[in-house]
Amino acid sequence: MKQYLSHPVFSIISDISNKMNTPSFVIGGFVRDILLKRPSKDIDIVVLGSGIELAEKTAAHLDRNIKVHVFRNFGTAMFSYNDIEFEFVGARKESYRNNSRKPIVEDGTIADDQNRRDFTINALAISLNKKDYGQLIDPFNGILDIENKIIRTPLEPENTFSDDPLRMLRAIRFATQLSFDIETNTFDAINKNTKRLSIISKERIVDELNKIILSQKPSIGFNLLDKSEILDMVFPQLNALKGIEVIGKNTHKDNFYHTLEVLDNIALKSDNLWLRWAALLHDIAKPATKKFEKDIGWTFHGHEFVGSKMIPAIFRQLSLPLNEKMKYVAKLVQLHLRPIALSEESVTDSAIRRLLFEAREDIDDLMLLCEADISSKNAKKVNRYINNFRIVRKKLVEIEEKDRLRNWQPPISGEDIMKTFNINPSHEVGLIKTAIREAILDGIINNNYSEAYEYMLEKGKKLGLIPK
Ligand code: ATP
Ligand code: MG
Repeated sequence: MKQYLSHPVFSIISDISNKMNTPSFVIGGFVRDILLKRPSKDIDIVVLGSGIELAEKTAAHLDRNIKVHVFRNFGTAMFSYNDIEFEFVGARKESYRNNSRKPIVEDGTIADDQNRRDFTINALAISLNKKDYGQLIDPFNGILDIENKIIRTPLEPENTFSDDPLRMLRAIRFATQLSFDIETNTFDAINKNTKRLSIISKERIVDELNKIILSQKPSIGFNLLDKSEILDMVFPQLNALKGIEVIGKNTHKDNFYHTLEVLDNIALKSDNLWLRWAALLHDIAKPATKKFEKDIGWTFHGHEFVGSKMIPAIFRQLSLPLNEKMKYVAKLVQLHLRPIALSEESVTDSAIRRLLFEAREDIDDLMLLCEADISSKNAKKVNRYINNFRIVRKKLVEIEEKDRLRNWQPPISGEDIMKTFNINPSHEVGLIKTAIREAILDGIINNNYSEAYEYMLEKGKKLGLIPK
């Protein structure tokens, strides 16, 4: 495995730990990722001795200016060097109590340290010691599991998950990121321990959800969350999208699978986490708005508005940030039917202007979301949508070039109106401003100062105002 230790820091660590007489090993995610040829940005070093001391000596040797962050309580130290995070920790043995994922920790051997790892593929270590530098230490056949694409716990899975239930989500997250299967016993143990997730903080849960969402094919993870019944615990609103109801000949699509399809579609087009969240949430209000109407069948009227209103509570519940990202998601959910409605009517300039005006700088993301939303199996229908979207996109470019509505600012301000007619802030000012905006959106006037000025005079006159 020496070929994998090409980073110059490894031989430095080896020299220093040899001098300190404290054996050290590279362990965990970094070893897994080099074998999988995945890029990795953090390197974990386990030391049979003081991780803090080894970190400080290594950093000092590399560059006196490196800042070493020491966490005495955990016996760990980390520093960053050439964009890579190095974390040093003393080898430890862990034992868990029932009600916490915080273990009792004692010093341990390298084997103890490997025993406390979550999965066989994460328990691989490579020696940095003089006598066997580069040797792989693989007590649980992690290499074989990498080859066979299997997620499996090193020890009894029931204990592994009961000790630290976050590992259940990590299992599903790795299965999604790596396209691995979760070994049967391991998955059964997840099924038995889902309730234990209640001791895990929301922040840690949502970190794992985000990693699933950012994977190449997020549906793998959500299907596993569903199968293990974790979905209902951590995200009941998404779980509620499942199922199909039939009345007579009237049926509707399963909105859970549809949503996963849309999420996978968008994942092919964009790495934007929040656009992916918008895809996951675009139909979230379908259960709340579902109705059976006698002559029409199943309807979900207004689900885009109701869904958009549900976003803040969902973000709070999942501990997602309550900031402009949340507003962006709410906006995309609210607008997600607009382009498709456009393409079903004739695509008028004024409809396009209104869409641009509302979506603003998020118009491109909205178009991606709408295109991802096509999940019909009917090729004719799909072609018609794609064709219509092509027309919408072309028109969007034309209208934006002409009217510049993406970053629209009213060409005439409230101040301008008050000065022109020598009036105070009043209802009339608002009326004129709205009238100008509507005239621009309807294409009655162009989006520029002089046409808006003329229009203001006209509108003012109708309201009995006289320019001074
Ligand atoms: P990523 O960096 O992609 O999140 P990773 O496996 O490197 O994945 P880290 O959180 O960086 O995860 O952890 C590094 C290593 O620490 C893991 O490979 C694993 O060996 C161990 N580890 C992390 N979290 C746990 C856990 N909850 N239980 C047991 N071992 C863990
Ligand atoms: Mg890592």
